[in-house]
Amino acid sequence: MSLAPDMNARAPLAAPAPLAFDLPAPDIAAWRAGNTGTEGVWHFDSGLPGRRVMVSALVHGNELCGAWALKGLLEAGVRPASGTLTLAFCNLQAFDRFDPADHDASRFTEEDLNRQWIDERMAAADTAERRRAAALRPWVAQADWLLDIHSMHERGAPLLLTGMQPRNRALAKAMAAPEHIVVDAGHKDGVRMRDYGRFGLPDADGGDTRSLLVECGFHGDPASRAVAQDQCVRFLEQSGVLNADALARQLPGWRLPDAPRQWALEVTGPVVATSSAFRFTEPFTGLEVIAQAGTVIGWNGDGSDATPVTTPYDDCVLVMPSVRQARAGVTVVRFARRQPL
Ligand SMILES: [Zn+2]
Repeated sequence: MSLAPDMNARAPLAAPAPLAFDLPAPDIAAWRAGNTGTEGVWHFDSGLPGRRVMVSALVHGNELCGAWALKGLLEAGVRPASGTLTLAFCNLQAFDRFDPADHDASRFTEEDLNRQWIDERMAAADTAERRRAAALRPWVAQADWLLDIHSMHERGAPLLLTGMQPRNRALAKAMAAPEHIVVDAGHKDGVRMRDYGRFGLPDADGGDTRSLLVECGFHGDPASRAVAQDQCVRFLEQSGVLNADALARQLPGWRLPDAPRQWALEVTGPVVATSSAFRFTEPFTGLEVIAQAGTVIGWNGDGSDATPVTTPYDDCVLVMPSVRQARAGVTVVRFARRQPL
């Protein structure tokens, strides 16, 4: 949507109301142990040459769609026809505390698991998440291709995050869904799993590695599960560990229609809250295109000290706006330029 400049005059909105959480928590008790000695990690080896492919879920404990997808892959008995397949339920300790009435509380136990992918932090082992990252690290390090499944604080269209590497962008195009591809450099406060080790290298050094992070929609929306399942099918097919016929036979109904078009959203920078008082001027849900540079989209700070947050260029896209985690230092929205993928 396009917003008129007169929104600059509007007062900041109040704190957002909670969204209904309609996606039930999956029962993964039967799959919790894994078969590798690392809790929650399953590894299957075809015995034949091929890519080492990994799909991960529950890096954030309240992001259930990926857990549903992994449970579905395990229940269907999906095995690689070539190469290897690793399936990982990541932050089980946080997931154990999941409560739909207070789901954000189960995002992590001590700190964000998706910022701990730095060898020094994992070696420090001084928080539950750093210890868990260290336990998962061998599986992440051995993988050639990684799909890390997440969901979002707010309702919104799915987003596939490729990082800065063109090889991941090409994979997103080959997958032909979702519609919106986010080209981004990650976060200042740590390193994501999808940027760890070989995955973070530029194309000249990254070899055959690929890593994608998919945001499947709002955490509590049952549609996020369907998106996660669809992304698994597309990713596994492109990886070559299973062919399209085998996937269609073993996972009937998982593949959704291709996106009508795909956009690359090149993230140019974050808006970082200076306090928990950050407010947007409108109930943005993401992917709004703000026509005019200089449009006020939010307020940083409180009362008379609040400073306006403005768009830096024309046709600026808002990526994943949310104030639910807002406090000093937390990214509340990212700005992006849009072009056809
Ligand atoms: Zn997440």
